[in-house]
Amino acid sequence: MPLVGKAIIEINTWHHENPRRMITRSYWYLCKSGWVGVSAMWIGVYLVTETVSWQWWFVGILGANANIVHQWAHKFPNEKPAFVNWLQKIGVIQRPHDHAQHHTKPETRSYCTYTPWLNPMLDRIGFWFGIERFFATFGIYTTDRID
Ligand SMILES: [Zn+2]
Repeated sequence: MPLVGKAIIEINTWHHENPRRMITRSYWYLCKSGWVGVSAMWIGVYLVTETVSWQWWFVGILGANANIVHQWAHKFPNEKPAFVNWLQKIGVIQRPHDHAQHHTKPETRSYCTYTPWLNPMLDRIGFWFGIERFFATFGIYTTDRID
């Protein structure tokens, strides 16, 4: 699936080969697929409910910018705003240390790049493997762990 591969899978692949390369990419490069997904979500919500509440807007804006939070986890403290360092310090968003678990071989843990709170539970229930298996049923392989 070329569109998905180019927009989502390719970013994940190259950033595992060289995690610091993540900080060289533009906002649009990192977030375009998020905005596409969020826009589809907002349209779906509107079609079902005939409105889009502020909670959907809020979650969508956070979701569309997930790769920026991810990018901050790859930056050194002097490369990001002070408020970002503070949010990481108090554990609201992922610290580099938290995200390092995701980049530790075999790179099968801690996929959530937003917050360190969810990963222990998501890893325990095999959530991300389930997502990978779901996409594999449509011939979309996000990893070589699934045949
Ligand atoms: Zn990363």
